[in-house]
Amino acid sequence: MNQQRRVAMVSGGSRGIGRAVALELARDGYDVSFCYRSDEQAAGELEKSLTEIGARMLAVRADVVDPEAVRSWVSRTESALGPIDLVVNSAGITRDKPLLMMTDDEWHSVLDANLDGVYNVCRAAVFGMMKRKSGSIINISSVSGVYGNPTQTNYSASKAGIIGFSRALAKEVGRYQIRVNAVAPGFIDTDMTSGLSDKAKQNALAQIPLGRLGRAEEVAGLVSYLASDRAAYITAAVLQIDGGITI
Ligand code: NAP
Repeated sequence: MNQQRRVAMVSGGSRGIGRAVALELARDGYDVSFCYRSDEQAAGELEKSLTEIGARMLAVRADVVDPEAVRSWVSRTESALGPIDLVVNSAGITRDKPLLMMTDDEWHSVLDANLDGVYNVCRAAVFGMMKRKSGSIINISSVSGVYGNPTQTNYSASKAGIIGFSRALAKEVGRYQIRVNAVAPGFIDTDMTSGLSDKAKQNALAQIPLGRLGRAEEVAGLVSYLASDRAAYITAAVLQIDGGITI
């Protein structure tokens, strides 16, 4: 454990990849503030686990789509835990449909949660990092944003948007010693993929040279590395963690 605990914010921390990231960062010596949208029970379970690890923590119900809720989450984090060293944006949703069947709501809700959400959190948190000339931001994109994926025009567009956003911000704030990177996972075994049909899962597995879905903990390991001083010279990068998927 580090001698001086640092402070991390994780959006969508209550389940899946965000949850694994929150736990890994707590083990790395971070105090962790996480937000979630609605699942109080999952948030409560994570609170307990973080406390057991010995991290100070803050759990806030905040929809990343709502800029005011996000600003409040950031200022509550600074008051409760101190200056923010690391932001991990993991909150995200899917609403898969072929384009011709997609509703306006399915398009906008995915762009709002996945892309506007990242903007809202970074917009609210980056000023403190700029003032201190230090910080790291890690945005969870997807291989769907790198290669595109059928029935995911909304999701792929949002995740490609995150890559452009991350690279642009990295160039903007590098002189403040703030690093901004994107992580692009392939198929990871979480609630998000548990709803896929058996056929869709078989199709996915056929495209993965390692022959299995990834684990949330494996993505968390990469985030932990990217956040650490070992990655001090990595910024504006898009790191894929996907078992070699060839979609
Ligand atoms: P998940 O298991 O469905 O968990 C999603 C988390 O995000 C939950 O904690 C959820 O909170 C939160 N969330 C969703 N919308 C939110 C909003 N508007 N405001 C605040 N919190 C919100 O998903 P996951 O598989 O861990 O995915 C995490 C991230 O990785 C997403 O950005 C996803 O696109 C990306 N990703 C996942 C995979 C994969 O195969 N699983 C692959 C590539 C990329 P509530 O439970 O309270 O709603």
